[in-house]
Amino acid sequence: MSGGIDSLCTALAGYLEPQISEEVQCAYHFAVVAHEGQKRRSGEPYITHPLAVARIMAEMHMDHQCVMAALLHDVLEDTGISKTELVQRFGEEVAELVDGVSKLAQINAISRKHVQAENLRKMLLAMTRDIRVILLKLADRLHNMRTLRYVAREKQRRIARETLEIYAPIANRLGMNSIRRELQNLGFQTLYPLRYQVLTTAVKRSRGNRTEIVRTIQDTITQRLAQEGLEGIVEGREKSLYNLYVKMRDKHRPLSEVMDLYAFRVIVNSVDTCYRALGVVHNLYKPVPGKFKDYIALPKVNGYQSLHTVLFGPYGIPLEVQIRTGDMNRMAEAGIAAHWLYKSGEQERTPRGGAQRRAREWLRGLLEMQQDAGDSLEFLENVKIDLFPDEVYVFTPKGKIMILAVGATAVDFAYAIHTDVGNHCIAAKIDRRLAPLSTPLENGQNIEIMTASTARPNPAWLNFVVTGKARANIRHYLKNLKREEAIQLGRHLLNKHLLNYSLTIDVILPECLQNLLKECELENLEQLLEAIGLGNRPALLVARRLVSDWDGKEEEKSAVDGSICRPLKIKGTEGMVVTFSRCCRPIPGDPIRGVVTAGRGIVIHTERCKNLAGFRSQPERWTDVEWADEVQTEFPVEIRVEVENRRGVLATVAAAISDTDTNIDNVSIDERDGVISSLLFTLEVRSRDQLARIMRRIRRLDMVLRLIRSKH
Ligand code: MN
Repeated sequence: MSGGIDSLCTALAGYLEPQISEEVQCAYHFAVVAHEGQKRRSGEPYITHPLAVARIMAEMHMDHQCVMAALLHDVLEDTGISKTELVQRFGEEVAELVDGVSKLAQINAISRKHVQAENLRKMLLAMTRDIRVILLKLADRLHNMRTLRYVAREKQRRIARETLEIYAPIANRLGMNSIRRELQNLGFQTLYPLRYQVLTTAVKRSRGNRTEIVRTIQDTITQRLAQEGLEGIVEGREKSLYNLYVKMRDKHRPLSEVMDLYAFRVIVNSVDTCYRALGVVHNLYKPVPGKFKDYIALPKVNGYQSLHTVLFGPYGIPLEVQIRTGDMNRMAEAGIAAHWLYKSGEQERTPRGGAQRRAREWLRGLLEMQQDAGDSLEFLENVKIDLFPDEVYVFTPKGKIMILAVGATAVDFAYAIHTDVGNHCIAAKIDRRLAPLSTPLENGQNIEIMTASTARPNPAWLNFVVTGKARANIRHYLKNLKREEAIQLGRHLLNKHLLNYSLTIDVILPECLQNLLKECELENLEQLLEAIGLGNRPALLVARRLVSDWDGKEEEKSAVDGSICRPLKIKGTEGMVVTFSRCCRPIPGDPIRGVVTAGRGIVIHTERCKNLAGFRSQPERWTDVEWADEVQTEFPVEIRVEVENRRGVLATVAAAISDTDTNIDNVSIDERDGVISSLLFTLEVRSRDQLARIMRRIRRLDMVLRLIRSKH
């Protein structure tokens, strides 16, 4: 065991300052205690796994935060340790890395069954603000693949497939070829053991015959380079088994044909020498026309640089030759990880600073190199999506991935699913919890939209939707409203906001209204209401504007004649500011009491309200109030519906409410056990009678167990 940490420290001593090793040992001992008693499937203590992952990080010469995070990468998920504790002990940066890796693990669990490989890869990258998290994840996966033989066969196959579809392509995208190769070969071996076996044997057999030829060609090229005064190393190169397999599979070629290719790599010390060496080998053997590729001038998407050519070798054998510099070769093996190569003397210990910046510089460099390339647009698109996300990736309830613009809300999501879903949405569940429709979505969330057939788009949505599709659809809906409908909707929205100030549009002083109309260059109230209804003016702002004007006017007016026509036609409140208590939410028809409250005027409670009891001893503060005969405003009221926890219950109840032409202002849900859900609706009603009608309608639903008007 201790041999493990010792050899890690030796590896670190090769490129880190000595005092770093103490911090790493601390992380190690912490992880040992955290995983105490846990075992790997192989029977070894669990700590061997994080230690091996840390070892891979050290081989990549990653910074010490990354190595520490590797040692700790499973403690959040598998032990009782909290992120806060990691922050306290090892600092923000290490804790963030560990947290990032743990989050990726959750994503995998969600989407296992519905592999949309490309989107999932994007999502993994988009979720990662720090690219080192991906490197950690790749190292984690690499060690799990190396020890895969211990887990059950079915699980082996699943993990191997996921490795080939998700992780190897990510390694490839990041230019990390040595990890990519190993992941592919291990994945191939696990998924197709028989093919792997057959291919291994065949390759071994044919390799035996080739050794002689390879050495001859190697020597010939080396000598010729030397004659021309060029220094270079010539290596014979083996194709990876997985690559051979893919070639056979995709191009329908027999092994003899895909093997019938001798591959060499020439490593030289400068770009200039690469081109000269190319001249030398073209001079030595005739090039096959159309096979030359200059990836130095036009690097591959992942930054790979090299010259590739194919030659007619001795005895007519085709020779594949790659020519590149030592730097290019390191890049080709380590890719983005090459940029974390720790440089001692570099004083970069600020959290998230240095390495992140270097990675960005690397990407910027790639962009510049790529500018002349034909596929630069596509490349830009890829880099942008992968590493500078301006999109969010979320799941539908069935595990499909939807891609939306950053800042998109549940309403945007609903419209992305289908226009009808958007037009009728009433509530959203984000990761199984109800959330306001305006909530901006985050990567990896699971989104479910509740709809009701009678629900309609709300102009207020225009204030928060970000996608063109949602905006266009809401506008389209509003534009097609008949003029009267728009006015009605506008009146409703405006009154809803004015009610917070115990006002309605009908009692606003004509003077205040005229001021506002003049300001907005509108002729009459109808036009204003229509503009609100069509979504051209936010009701909230209009209401605020009216109220601020009103407040000034009101004081003047009260001062003159001492009385004022108060908005809500409650008798006995003349000249007083009236507000409706939120604790009991009185609605017209409820028996009510007014309480004079300093600073708030008269507060109206229902007679049953528990908070009234507190005022019993102060009768001087009570005042008799009564509803006016015709109250035309809608008041918020809360009802609690307890239902059997079946699929779609919320939508059913919501539809029943909408059937009575009642607006649902808000919904929240309380799933206390698996059996019963408690739904809390805030509705807008004009009267007790209307509420009674709604409650009768809901009671008819067979899944409803209990229904009460709450808090009154
Ligand atoms: Mn792990």
